[in-house]
Amino acid sequence: MFENLQGRFAKVLNNLRGQGRLTEDNIQDTLREVRMALLEADVALPVVREFIETVRTQALGEEVARSLTPGQVLIKVVHDELVRVMGQANEALDLAAQPPAVVLMAGLQGSGKTTSVAKLARWLAERQNKKALLVSCDIYRPAAIEQLRTLAAEVGAEFFPSTKDQDPVAIARAALDHAKRHYKDVLIVDTAGRLHIDAAMMDEIRALHAALDPIETLFVVDSMTGQDAANTAKAFGDALPLTGVILTKTDGDARGGAALSIRHITGKPIKFIGVGEKTTALEPFYPERLASRILDMGDVVSLVEEVQRKVDHEEAARLVQKLKKGGFDLADFRDQIKQMATMGGMAGLMDKLPGMGQIPDQVKAQVNDKEMKRLVAMIDSMTPKERAFPDIIKGARKRRIAAGSGTQVQDLNRLLKQFAQMQKVMKKMKGGGMAKMMRGLKGRLPGMGGMGGMGGLPPGFPR
Ligand code: GDP
Ligand code: MG
Repeated sequence: MFENLQGRFAKVLNNLRGQGRLTEDNIQDTLREVRMALLEADVALPVVREFIETVRTQALGEEVARSLTPGQVLIKVVHDELVRVMGQANEALDLAAQPPAVVLMAGLQGSGKTTSVAKLARWLAERQNKKALLVSCDIYRPAAIEQLRTLAAEVGAEFFPSTKDQDPVAIARAALDHAKRHYKDVLIVDTAGRLHIDAAMMDEIRALHAALDPIETLFVVDSMTGQDAANTAKAFGDALPLTGVILTKTDGDARGGAALSIRHITGKPIKFIGVGEKTTALEPFYPERLASRILDMGDVVSLVEEVQRKVDHEEAARLVQKLKKGGFDLADFRDQIKQMATMGGMAGLMDKLPGMGQIPDQVKAQVNDKEMKRLVAMIDSMTPKERAFPDIIKGARKRRIAAGSGTQVQDLNRLLKQFAQMQKVMKKMKGGGMAKMMRGLKGRLPGMGGMGGMGGLPPGFPR
Protein backbone atom coordinates (compact mmCIF):
# COMPACT_ATOMS: atom_id res chain seq x y z
CA MET A 1 0.00 0.00 0.00
CA PHE A 2 1.04 3.60 -0.61
CA GLU A 3 3.83 2.82 -3.07
CA ASN A 4 2.60 5.51 -5.46
CA LEU A 5 2.34 8.20 -2.81
CA GLN A 6 5.73 7.29 -1.53
CA GLY A 7 7.40 7.96 -4.86
CA ARG A 8 5.57 11.24 -5.40
CA PHE A 9 6.14 12.59 -1.92
CA ALA A 10 9.82 11.80 -1.98
CA LYS A 11 10.25 13.79 -5.17
CA VAL A 12 8.09 16.70 -4.16
CA LEU A 13 9.39 17.26 -0.67
CA ASN A 14 12.99 17.02 -1.66
CA ASN A 15 12.45 19.93 -4.01
CA LEU A 16 12.21 22.27 -1.05
CA ARG A 17 15.85 21.75 -0.13
CA GLY A 18 17.96 24.83 0.28
CA GLN A 19 15.12 27.28 0.74
CA GLY A 20 15.59 29.76 3.56
CA ARG A 21 12.22 29.54 5.23
CA LEU A 22 8.68 28.39 4.66
CA THR A 23 6.61 31.04 2.91
CA GLU A 24 3.30 31.07 1.12
CA ASP A 25 5.31 31.37 -2.10
CA ASN A 26 7.75 28.55 -1.73
CA ILE A 27 5.31 26.02 -0.34
CA GLN A 28 2.74 26.82 -3.02
CA ASP A 29 4.24 24.53 -5.66
CA THR A 30 5.00 21.80 -3.22
CA LEU A 31 1.47 21.83 -1.87
CA ARG A 32 0.10 21.66 -5.38
CA GLU A 33 2.19 18.56 -5.96
CA VAL A 34 1.13 17.03 -2.68
CA ARG A 35 -2.46 17.67 -3.65
CA MET A 36 -1.96 15.93 -6.98
CA ALA A 37 -0.28 13.01 -5.29
CA LEU A 38 -3.20 12.59 -2.89
CA LEU A 39 -5.75 12.79 -5.68
CA GLU A 40 -3.82 10.22 -7.67
CA ALA A 41 -3.84 7.99 -4.62
CA ASP A 42 -7.64 8.23 -4.82
CA VAL A 43 -8.05 10.06 -1.55
CA ALA A 44 -11.51 11.61 -1.27
CA LEU A 45 -11.67 15.24 -2.32
CA PRO A 46 -12.87 16.75 0.98
CA VAL A 47 -10.05 14.94 2.73
CA VAL A 48 -7.51 16.26 0.24
CA ARG A 49 -8.79 19.81 0.66
CA GLU A 50 -8.60 19.75 4.40
CA PHE A 51 -5.24 18.05 4.32
CA ILE A 52 -3.71 20.75 2.15
CA GLU A 53 -5.23 23.59 4.15
CA THR A 54 -4.03 22.15 7.45
CA VAL A 55 -0.54 21.57 6.13
CA ARG A 56 -0.44 25.11 4.73
CA THR A 57 -1.50 26.70 8.00
CA GLN A 58 0.77 24.52 10.09
CA ALA A 59 3.75 25.01 7.81
CA LEU A 60 3.46 28.80 7.78
CA GLY A 61 3.20 28.96 11.53
CA GLU A 62 6.20 26.72 11.96
CA GLU A 63 9.53 28.21 12.85
CA VAL A 64 12.44 26.70 11.02
CA ALA A 65 15.11 26.07 13.59
CA ARG A 66 18.60 27.03 12.48
CA SER A 67 19.80 23.48 12.18
CA LEU A 68 16.90 22.42 9.96
CA THR A 69 15.89 23.12 6.39
CA PRO A 70 12.37 24.22 5.46
CA GLY A 71 11.98 21.03 3.47
CA GLN A 72 12.61 18.96 6.56
CA VAL A 73 10.12 20.96 8.56
CA LEU A 74 7.50 20.59 5.85
CA ILE A 75 8.06 16.84 5.79
CA LYS A 76 7.37 16.74 9.49
CA VAL A 77 4.20 18.79 9.06
CA VAL A 78 2.98 16.51 6.26
CA HIS A 79 3.85 13.46 8.33
CA ASP A 80 1.90 14.70 11.33
CA GLU A 81 -1.11 15.48 9.18
CA LEU A 82 -0.98 12.01 7.63
CA VAL A 83 -1.04 10.52 11.09
CA ARG A 84 -3.90 12.75 12.15
CA VAL A 85 -5.99 11.98 9.07
CA MET A 86 -5.61 8.27 9.70
CA GLY A 87 -6.74 8.61 13.28
CA GLN A 88 -3.66 9.38 15.39
CA ALA A 89 -3.27 6.07 17.21
CA ASN A 90 -4.28 2.46 16.90
CA GLU A 91 -7.73 1.74 18.23
CA ALA A 92 -7.85 -1.70 19.66
CA LEU A 93 -10.71 -4.12 19.40
CA ASP A 94 -13.04 -3.61 22.30
CA LEU A 95 -13.91 -6.93 23.88
CA ALA A 96 -14.74 -5.61 27.31
CA ALA A 97 -18.15 -7.23 27.55
CA GLN A 98 -19.66 -9.97 29.58
CA PRO A 99 -18.42 -12.96 27.54
CA PRO A 100 -19.06 -13.76 24.83
CA ALA A 101 -18.01 -10.46 23.27
CA VAL A 102 -19.94 -10.42 20.03
CA VAL A 103 -18.26 -9.17 16.86
CA LEU A 104 -20.55 -8.59 13.89
CA MET A 105 -19.08 -8.31 10.40
CA ALA A 106 -20.74 -6.21 7.71
CA GLY A 107 -19.79 -5.31 4.18
CA LEU A 108 -20.35 -5.84 0.49
CA GLN A 109 -19.94 -9.20 -1.21
CA GLY A 110 -16.34 -10.05 -1.92
CA SER A 111 -14.97 -7.43 0.45
CA GLY A 112 -13.26 -10.11 2.53
CA LYS A 113 -15.66 -10.67 5.43
CA THR A 114 -15.42 -14.45 5.64
CA THR A 115 -11.64 -14.39 5.29
CA SER A 116 -11.43 -11.67 7.93
CA VAL A 117 -13.55 -13.69 10.36
CA ALA A 118 -10.98 -16.47 10.22
CA LYS A 119 -8.04 -14.07 10.41
CA LEU A 120 -9.54 -12.36 13.41
CA ALA A 121 -10.22 -15.66 15.19
CA ARG A 122 -6.61 -16.62 14.65
CA TRP A 123 -5.30 -13.26 15.77
CA LEU A 124 -7.43 -13.39 18.92
CA ALA A 125 -6.21 -16.88 19.76
CA GLU A 126 -2.55 -16.13 19.13
CA ARG A 127 -2.31 -12.58 20.47
CA GLN A 128 -4.98 -12.38 23.10
CA ASN A 129 -5.40 -15.96 24.08
CA LYS A 130 -9.12 -15.77 23.41
CA LYS A 131 -11.25 -18.56 22.01
CA ALA A 132 -13.72 -17.55 19.36
CA LEU A 133 -16.83 -19.28 18.08
CA LEU A 134 -17.46 -18.63 14.39
CA VAL A 135 -20.84 -18.67 12.71
CA SER A 136 -22.04 -17.84 9.22
CA CYS A 137 -25.38 -16.13 8.60
CA ASP A 138 -24.74 -16.03 4.86
CA ILE A 139 -27.54 -18.23 3.57
CA TYR A 140 -27.51 -16.73 0.06
CA ARG A 141 -24.14 -17.37 -1.46
CA PRO A 142 -23.57 -21.00 -2.42
CA ALA A 143 -20.87 -22.59 -0.31
CA ALA A 144 -20.48 -19.51 1.92
CA ILE A 145 -21.14 -21.54 5.05
CA GLU A 146 -18.80 -24.28 3.85
CA GLN A 147 -16.09 -21.68 3.22
CA LEU A 148 -16.23 -20.56 6.82
CA ARG A 149 -16.26 -24.15 8.09
CA THR A 150 -13.03 -24.86 6.19
CA LEU A 151 -11.39 -21.65 7.38
CA ALA A 152 -12.44 -22.29 10.98
CA ALA A 153 -10.78 -25.70 10.86
CA GLU A 154 -7.66 -24.14 9.42
CA VAL A 155 -7.32 -21.61 12.22
CA GLY A 156 -8.43 -24.03 14.91
CA ALA A 157 -11.54 -22.13 15.94
CA GLU A 158 -14.82 -23.73 16.84
CA PHE A 159 -17.43 -23.52 14.10
CA PHE A 160 -21.15 -23.26 14.80
CA PRO A 161 -22.96 -25.05 11.94
CA SER A 162 -25.81 -23.44 10.03
CA THR A 163 -27.71 -24.27 6.87
CA LYS A 164 -29.03 -22.19 4.04
CA ASP A 165 -32.67 -22.93 4.77
CA GLN A 166 -32.40 -21.27 8.19
CA ASP A 167 -33.25 -17.69 9.02
CA PRO A 168 -30.11 -15.53 9.58
CA VAL A 169 -31.43 -14.03 12.82
CA ALA A 170 -32.36 -17.50 14.14
CA ILE A 171 -28.84 -18.72 13.31
CA ALA A 172 -27.32 -15.77 15.14
CA ARG A 173 -29.49 -16.32 18.22
CA ALA A 174 -28.65 -20.03 18.38
CA ALA A 175 -24.93 -19.30 18.03
CA LEU A 176 -25.06 -16.68 20.76
CA ASP A 177 -26.84 -19.10 23.04
CA HIS A 178 -24.24 -21.79 22.34
CA ALA A 179 -21.36 -19.37 22.94
CA LYS A 180 -22.87 -18.39 26.28
CA ARG A 181 -23.40 -21.92 27.44
CA HIS A 182 -19.90 -22.96 26.44
CA TYR A 183 -18.17 -19.93 27.89
CA LYS A 184 -16.66 -18.70 24.63
CA ASP A 185 -14.69 -15.49 24.92
CA VAL A 186 -15.78 -14.15 21.56
CA LEU A 187 -18.51 -14.87 19.02
CA ILE A 188 -17.69 -13.69 15.49
CA VAL A 189 -20.68 -13.49 13.18
CA ASP A 190 -20.17 -13.59 9.42
CA THR A 191 -22.97 -12.13 7.30
CA ALA A 192 -24.10 -12.00 3.70
CA GLY A 193 -23.13 -9.12 1.47
CA ARG A 194 -24.59 -7.93 -1.79
CA LEU A 195 -22.78 -6.44 -4.72
CA HIS A 196 -24.34 -3.07 -4.02
CA ILE A 197 -25.93 -1.44 -1.06
CA ASP A 198 -29.57 -2.45 -1.07
CA ALA A 199 -32.43 -2.08 1.34
CA ALA A 200 -32.99 -5.79 1.96
CA MET A 201 -29.37 -6.33 2.93
CA MET A 202 -29.41 -3.33 5.25
CA ASP A 203 -32.62 -4.53 6.89
CA GLU A 204 -31.12 -7.94 7.48
CA ILE A 205 -27.89 -6.67 8.99
CA ARG A 206 -29.86 -4.28 11.18
CA ALA A 207 -32.00 -7.18 12.40
CA LEU A 208 -28.86 -9.18 13.17
CA HIS A 209 -27.44 -6.21 15.02
CA ALA A 210 -30.59 -5.89 17.09
CA ALA A 211 -30.63 -9.60 17.94
CA LEU A 212 -26.96 -9.80 18.87
CA ASP A 213 -26.25 -6.41 20.43
CA PRO A 214 -22.58 -6.72 19.43
CA ILE A 215 -19.82 -4.83 21.22
CA GLU A 216 -17.99 -4.53 17.89
CA THR A 217 -19.68 -3.99 14.54
CA LEU A 218 -16.91 -4.03 11.98
CA PHE A 219 -17.32 -2.84 8.45
CA VAL A 220 -15.15 -4.84 6.08
CA VAL A 221 -14.09 -3.02 2.93
CA ASP A 222 -11.79 -3.60 0.01
CA SER A 223 -8.94 -1.10 -0.02
CA MET A 224 -8.69 -1.21 -3.79
CA THR A 225 -12.03 0.54 -4.14
CA GLY A 226 -10.25 3.72 -3.05
CA GLN A 227 -12.46 6.63 -2.10
CA ASP A 228 -15.52 4.49 -2.87
CA ALA A 229 -14.51 2.45 0.15
CA ALA A 230 -15.00 5.54 2.28
CA ASN A 231 -18.37 6.24 0.71
CA THR A 232 -19.62 2.69 1.20
CA ALA A 233 -18.39 2.82 4.76
CA LYS A 234 -20.40 5.98 5.22
CA ALA A 235 -23.55 4.34 3.84
CA PHE A 236 -23.16 1.41 6.20
CA GLY A 237 -22.29 3.74 9.04
CA ASP A 238 -25.50 5.67 8.49
CA ALA A 239 -27.50 2.43 8.71
CA LEU A 240 -25.62 0.70 11.51
CA PRO A 241 -23.73 1.83 14.60
CA LEU A 242 -20.32 0.76 13.31
CA THR A 243 -17.49 0.61 15.79
CA GLY A 244 -14.67 0.18 13.33
CA VAL A 245 -13.41 -0.84 9.94
CA ILE A 246 -11.30 -3.67 8.57
CA LEU A 247 -9.57 -2.53 5.41
CA THR A 248 -8.76 -5.59 3.30
CA LYS A 249 -6.53 -6.29 0.34
CA THR A 250 -4.10 -3.52 1.14
CA ASP A 251 -1.43 -5.83 -0.27
CA GLY A 252 -2.80 -5.32 -3.76
CA ASP A 253 -3.47 -1.62 -3.42
CA ALA A 254 -0.61 0.62 -4.47
CA ARG A 255 -2.59 3.81 -3.92
CA GLY A 256 -3.94 3.74 -0.39
CA GLY A 257 -6.69 6.35 -0.80
CA ALA A 258 -9.13 4.40 1.35
CA ALA A 259 -6.80 4.34 4.33
CA LEU A 260 -6.53 8.12 4.18
CA SER A 261 -10.22 8.81 3.57
CA ILE A 262 -12.18 6.45 5.80
CA ARG A 263 -11.58 8.07 9.14
CA HIS A 264 -12.40 11.52 7.89
CA ILE A 265 -15.51 10.53 5.92
CA THR A 266 -17.00 8.13 8.44
CA GLY A 267 -15.52 9.18 11.75
CA LYS A 268 -14.85 5.48 12.38
CA PRO A 269 -11.42 4.07 13.09
CA ILE A 270 -9.75 1.50 10.89
CA LYS A 271 -8.88 -1.19 13.42
CA PHE A 272 -7.24 -3.79 11.20
CA ILE A 273 -5.86 -4.13 7.72
CA GLY A 274 -5.81 -7.29 5.63
CA VAL A 275 -2.44 -7.74 4.00
CA GLY A 276 -2.82 -10.99 2.08
CA GLU A 277 -4.97 -14.03 1.45
CA LYS A 278 -3.52 -16.20 4.19
CA THR A 279 -5.19 -16.35 7.59
CA THR A 280 -2.09 -14.83 9.19
CA ALA A 281 -2.35 -11.76 6.98
CA LEU A 282 -4.08 -9.40 9.39
CA GLU A 283 -2.44 -6.47 11.15
CA PRO A 284 -3.67 -3.89 13.62
CA PHE A 285 -3.83 -0.48 11.93
CA TYR A 286 -1.13 1.92 13.14
CA PRO A 287 -1.47 5.42 11.65
CA GLU A 288 2.00 6.43 12.78
CA ARG A 289 3.71 3.46 11.12
CA LEU A 290 1.78 3.89 7.92
CA ALA A 291 2.55 7.59 7.74
CA SER A 292 6.22 6.78 8.08
CA ARG A 293 5.86 4.22 5.36
CA ILE A 294 4.17 6.71 3.03
CA LEU A 295 6.85 9.32 3.49
CA ASP A 296 9.65 6.83 3.81
CA MET A 297 11.61 9.54 5.56
CA GLY A 298 11.54 8.34 9.13
CA ASP A 299 15.01 9.70 9.80
CA VAL A 300 13.97 13.21 8.77
CA VAL A 301 10.87 13.08 10.94
CA SER A 302 12.79 12.03 14.02
CA LEU A 303 15.52 14.58 13.35
CA VAL A 304 12.96 17.38 13.19
CA GLU A 305 11.25 16.11 16.32
CA GLU A 306 14.51 16.07 18.18
CA VAL A 307 15.53 19.58 17.13
CA GLN A 308 12.09 20.95 17.89
CA ARG A 309 12.15 19.39 21.32
CA LYS A 310 15.44 21.09 21.98
CA VAL A 311 14.16 24.45 20.76
CA ASP A 312 11.10 24.08 22.96
CA HIS A 313 13.34 23.51 25.92
CA GLU A 314 15.39 26.58 25.11
CA GLU A 315 12.25 28.66 24.72
CA ALA A 316 10.98 27.41 28.03
CA ALA A 317 14.26 28.20 29.72
CA ARG A 318 14.25 31.70 28.22
CA LEU A 319 10.75 32.22 29.50
CA VAL A 320 11.71 31.21 33.00
CA GLN A 321 14.54 33.74 32.86
CA LYS A 322 12.17 36.44 31.78
CA LEU A 323 9.69 35.59 34.48
CA LYS A 324 12.42 35.78 37.06
CA LYS A 325 13.57 39.18 35.88
CA GLY A 326 10.06 40.56 35.90
CA GLY A 327 9.27 43.31 33.42
CA PHE A 328 6.80 41.00 31.84
CA ASP A 329 4.10 42.91 29.98
CA LEU A 330 0.96 42.00 28.10
CA ALA A 331 2.86 41.66 24.84
CA ASP A 332 5.11 39.06 26.43
CA PHE A 333 2.08 37.38 27.82
CA ARG A 334 0.53 37.19 24.38
CA ASP A 335 3.74 35.80 22.84
CA GLN A 336 3.81 33.24 25.54
CA ILE A 337 0.22 32.16 24.91
CA LYS A 338 0.86 31.87 21.19
CA GLN A 339 4.00 29.93 21.76
CA MET A 340 2.13 27.55 23.98
CA ALA A 341 -0.47 26.94 21.32
CA THR A 342 2.24 25.90 18.87
CA MET A 343 3.91 23.71 21.45
CA GLY A 344 0.91 21.49 21.87
CA GLY A 345 -0.99 23.67 24.28
CA MET A 346 -0.48 24.49 27.87
CA ALA A 347 -0.06 20.95 29.04
CA GLY A 348 2.80 20.49 26.59
CA LEU A 349 4.69 23.51 27.83
CA MET A 350 4.08 22.83 31.48
CA ASP A 351 5.88 19.56 31.20
CA LYS A 352 8.92 21.34 29.88
CA LEU A 353 9.14 23.93 32.61
CA PRO A 354 11.20 23.04 35.64
CA GLY A 355 9.16 21.99 38.62
CA MET A 356 5.98 21.48 36.61
CA GLY A 357 6.02 17.74 36.83
CA GLN A 358 4.28 17.90 40.15
CA ILE A 359 1.18 19.64 38.87
CA PRO A 360 -1.66 17.15 38.53
CA ASP A 361 -2.71 16.42 34.95
CA GLN A 362 -6.31 17.45 35.46
CA VAL A 363 -5.19 20.91 36.45
CA LYS A 364 -3.14 21.23 33.29
CA ALA A 365 -6.07 20.01 31.25
CA GLN A 366 -8.18 22.91 32.45
CA VAL A 367 -6.39 25.23 30.13
CA ASN A 368 -8.53 25.71 27.14
CA ASP A 369 -7.44 26.71 23.69
CA LYS A 370 -10.50 28.77 22.84
CA GLU A 371 -9.88 30.93 25.87
CA MET A 372 -6.28 31.32 24.75
CA LYS A 373 -7.43 32.62 21.37
CA ARG A 374 -9.71 35.15 23.03
CA LEU A 375 -6.94 36.43 25.22
CA VAL A 376 -4.66 36.82 22.22
CA ALA A 377 -7.40 38.66 20.32
CA MET A 378 -7.86 41.11 23.18
CA ILE A 379 -4.16 41.80 23.54
CA ASP A 380 -3.86 42.16 19.75
CA SER A 381 -6.47 44.90 19.86
CA MET A 382 -4.41 46.96 22.26
CA THR A 383 -1.82 49.56 21.29
CA PRO A 384 1.81 48.85 22.20
CA LYS A 385 1.56 51.46 24.90
CA GLU A 386 -1.48 49.79 26.41
CA ARG A 387 0.31 46.47 26.43
CA ALA A 388 3.26 47.92 28.26
CA PHE A 389 1.17 50.02 30.68
CA PRO A 390 -2.15 48.26 31.19
CA ASP A 391 -3.06 50.79 33.90
CA ILE A 392 -3.99 53.32 31.23
CA ILE A 393 -6.73 51.04 29.89
CA LYS A 394 -9.90 52.77 31.07
CA GLY A 395 -13.46 53.34 29.79
CA ALA A 396 -13.15 54.34 26.12
CA ARG A 397 -10.06 52.23 25.58
CA LYS A 398 -11.79 49.26 27.11
CA ARG A 399 -14.76 49.62 24.80
CA ARG A 400 -12.48 49.97 21.78
CA ILE A 401 -10.45 46.89 22.68
CA ALA A 402 -13.52 44.78 23.41
CA ALA A 403 -15.14 45.82 20.13
CA GLY A 404 -11.93 45.23 18.21
CA SER A 405 -11.51 41.72 19.56
CA GLY A 406 -15.15 40.67 19.49
CA THR A 407 -15.27 40.28 23.26
CA GLN A 408 -17.08 41.96 26.14
CA VAL A 409 -15.71 44.60 28.45
CA GLN A 410 -16.14 42.11 31.30
CA ASP A 411 -13.80 39.70 29.51
CA LEU A 412 -11.23 42.43 29.24
CA ASN A 413 -11.66 43.38 32.87
CA ARG A 414 -11.05 39.80 33.83
CA LEU A 415 -7.91 39.64 31.73
CA LEU A 416 -6.58 42.84 33.25
CA LYS A 417 -7.35 41.74 36.76
CA GLN A 418 -5.71 38.40 36.22
CA PHE A 419 -2.70 39.98 34.62
CA ALA A 420 -2.30 42.33 37.57
CA GLN A 421 -2.42 39.38 39.95
CA MET A 422 0.09 37.54 37.84
CA GLN A 423 2.50 40.45 38.01
CA LYS A 424 2.14 40.48 41.77
CA VAL A 425 3.01 36.80 41.97
CA MET A 426 5.98 37.38 39.73
CA LYS A 427 7.33 40.12 41.94
CA LYS A 428 7.28 37.74 44.88
CA MET A 429 8.94 35.16 42.78
CA LYS A 430 11.90 37.34 41.96
CA GLY A 431 13.49 36.57 45.29
CA GLY A 432 12.74 32.90 45.62
CA GLY A 433 12.85 31.56 42.12
CA MET A 434 10.57 29.28 40.29
CA ALA A 435 10.62 26.38 42.70
CA LYS A 436 9.46 28.56 45.54
CA MET A 437 6.67 29.98 43.45
CA MET A 438 5.54 26.55 42.49
CA ARG A 439 5.42 25.50 46.12
CA GLY A 440 3.49 28.63 46.93
CA LEU A 441 1.04 28.05 44.14
CA LYS A 442 0.53 24.42 44.71
CA GLY A 443 -1.43 24.88 47.86
CA ARG A 444 -3.74 27.27 46.04
CA LEU A 445 -4.28 25.23 42.94
CA PRO A 446 -7.62 23.67 43.79
CA GLY A 447 -9.12 27.09 44.40
CA MET A 448 -8.10 28.39 41.04
CA GLY A 449 -11.10 26.93 39.33
CA GLY A 450 -11.78 26.68 35.63
CA MET A 451 -10.73 29.03 32.94
CA GLY A 452 -11.73 32.61 33.18
CA GLY A 453 -12.77 32.21 36.78
CA MET A 454 -12.15 35.18 39.03
CA GLY A 455 -9.14 35.16 41.23
CA GLY A 456 -7.18 32.53 39.37
CA LEU A 457 -4.20 33.04 37.19
CA PRO A 458 -5.03 33.56 33.56
CA PRO A 459 -4.91 30.52 31.36
CA GLY A 460 -1.64 30.30 29.57
CA PHE A 461 0.25 31.22 32.64
CA PRO A 462 2.39 28.39 33.94
CA ARG A 463 0.90 27.34 37.22
P1 GDP B 1 -16.79 -11.92 1.50
O1 GDP B 1 -17.68 -12.10 0.32
O2 GDP B 1 -16.89 -10.53 2.03
O3 GDP B 1 -16.99 -12.93 2.55
O4 GDP B 1 -15.28 -12.06 0.96
P2 GDP B 1 -14.28 -13.29 1.13
O5 GDP B 1 -13.77 -13.38 2.51
O6 GDP B 1 -14.90 -14.50 0.56
O7 GDP B 1 -13.07 -12.79 0.22
C1 GDP B 1 -13.18 -12.53 -1.14
C2 GDP B 1 -11.80 -12.72 -1.79
O8 GDP B 1 -10.90 -11.73 -1.32
C3 GDP B 1 -11.18 -14.06 -1.49
O9 GDP B 1 -10.59 -14.55 -2.64
C4 GDP B 1 -10.12 -13.73 -0.44
O10 GDP B 1 -9.03 -14.63 -0.49
C5 GDP B 1 -9.72 -12.36 -0.86
N1 GDP B 1 -9.16 -11.58 0.25
C6 GDP B 1 -9.76 -11.25 1.42
N2 GDP B 1 -8.93 -10.48 2.17
C7 GDP B 1 -7.81 -10.30 1.46
C8 GDP B 1 -6.58 -9.57 1.69
O11 GDP B 1 -6.35 -8.92 2.71
N3 GDP B 1 -5.65 -9.64 0.70
C9 GDP B 1 -5.85 -10.32 -0.46
N4 GDP B 1 -4.88 -10.31 -1.35
N5 GDP B 1 -6.98 -11.01 -0.70
C10 GDP B 1 -7.94 -11.00 0.23
MG1 MG C 1 -18.44 -14.35 2.75
